[in-house]
Amino acid sequence: MADTKKTIRLEIITPDASVFRGEVDFVLVRALDGDLGIMPSHAPLLASLQIWPLSCMIENHKKNLFVSGGFLEVNSNTVTIVTLAAELADQIDIKRAEEAKKRAENRLYRQAADLDVERAQLALHRALGRIKTVRISK
Ligand code: ATP
Repeated sequence: MADTKKTIRLEIITPDASVFRGEVDFVLVRALDGDLGIMPSHAPLLASLQIWPLSCMIENHKKNLFVSGGFLEVNSNTVTIVTLAAELADQIDIKRAEEAKKRAENRLYRQAADLDVERAQLALHRALGRIKTVRISK
């Protein structure tokens, strides 16, 4: 008979901390080629993530976290995400994210000769992802 677990373990790890660790009912992430929903007993999987909010369901309650890209592995009923930065919605400093957004937009607008376009675009995506995480959590 197929193994029908009711929850799946989610672990989100950054170089500084284990940002989240717990049993969840469902995980929704944005992989490079689109949204990916992961239910308990999901088949093994490896994916690269976009800089975007992650949502998970815990007993009918939705929890949102910001995830700064990175990698996801599903194995043995565990979703492991390794990323450079991640924050729970209520850990996000919205003023800091708004300022980071303005800085990145100004850099991209001014187009200085020494502008690192990719770096500025990534900073803008991180700021937009944090702002979105806070907005969808209100
Ligand atoms: P900033 O320019 O404001 O530092 P950033 O996008 O360059 O933003 P990151 O390199 O993604 O920042 O993150 C560096 C560290 O700061 C990480 O530990 C991350 O969790 C934290 N961090 C960044 N922005 C915020 C924020 N708005 N609220 C809370 N923590 C943040």
